[in-house]
Amino acid sequence: MKAMGFYNTGGPEVLQEIDVPEMLPSKGEIIIRVNFTSVNNLDVLMRSGGTKMNFNLPHIPGTDVSGIVEKIGEGVTGISEGDRVISSTVYGCGSCRQCASGNETLCKSWKVLGMHVWGSYAELVRIPSWMAIKPPKSYSQEELGCMPLSLSVSWNALKVAAKAKASETAIIFGASGNSGLFSLMLAKAMGLKTIAVTRSEKKKPSLKKAGADHVLILNQQSPETLQKEAIELTNGEGAEIIIDPIGNPIDSSIAMLSHGGRIVTFGTSLSAESQLSIKKFYWKSASLIGVHNVSAKELNDAFTFAEKKGIRPIINSKLRVAQAQEAHRIFSSSEAFGKILMEHKWQH
Ligand SMILES: [Zn+2]
Repeated sequence: MKAMGFYNTGGPEVLQEIDVPEMLPSKGEIIIRVNFTSVNNLDVLMRSGGTKMNFNLPHIPGTDVSGIVEKIGEGVTGISEGDRVISSTVYGCGSCRQCASGNETLCKSWKVLGMHVWGSYAELVRIPSWMAIKPPKSYSQEELGCMPLSLSVSWNALKVAAKAKASETAIIFGASGNSGLFSLMLAKAMGLKTIAVTRSEKKKPSLKKAGADHVLILNQQSPETLQKEAIELTNGEGAEIIIDPIGNPIDSSIAMLSHGGRIVTFGTSLSAESQLSIKKFYWKSASLIGVHNVSAKELNDAFTFAEKKGIRPIINSKLRVAQAQEAHRIFSSSEAFGKILMEHKWQH
């Protein structure tokens, strides 16, 4: 089968077409023929070596899966060849206490598709059958190719971790990124007041259209200005929720947080390390919550809510998987707004 993968980490140019043997499903597994996938920050981190983890080469990235079940292994029930499915992104060991209760993200042996095992830049992916979800029919295969990871992590951050309630205010960092945009749309649909934070003034109109009540520009030279603006927009109280997929300095986030507020963090593109002033943290009765992925159940809940509220992905561009180099360049450019979708169309 064909795939876009890499033999060495580096820039987008290391991505190349490779041929790898087709996989067969083991007991309890299924094979999905991937129709659409999309670029996520994880793919870029894997390709560039930014995760600092050891993994076997060649590697095939890709976490989002929208496709059709091609083969089912022994003992698989509830899913058939030809079913239209998406895939959950995280594997647990399948046998520990957390896995048994549907909390595979809390399994000590968690693995992610496209990170620890070959992902959806290949024509076929092999997953345990319980990771497959039959998505709502109202979403096209294209839309599904760019929703699973970003939508579900955003859902987990807002609903499961922060326990967001209507009438609260959410400050969303990295709002024009993949999960930032879904967080913005979800927060708006949940009835929250939304303050989007982005690095580009040019993205203000698009963010307003996507559901931002206010847009603040992140200027790393002057975090105090951002804090002052955020406090003014929340009548001096601070926001109840901060959604942070970029790694904003924690002390700066606490300064914008209301008493009893919650900071949810799941990314480090701005900074991998952060100082925490413990006194400021407990004086505000603040909570700091980390999320790294989402269980299959939460993915399903996220889609049910998104469909009910008419949330659809914003698609920046559509390319073929064979154009993954260009897709990664667009993804990393400051002009990108919305998902970079890729279609599995190969000339055999
Ligand atoms: Zn487990």
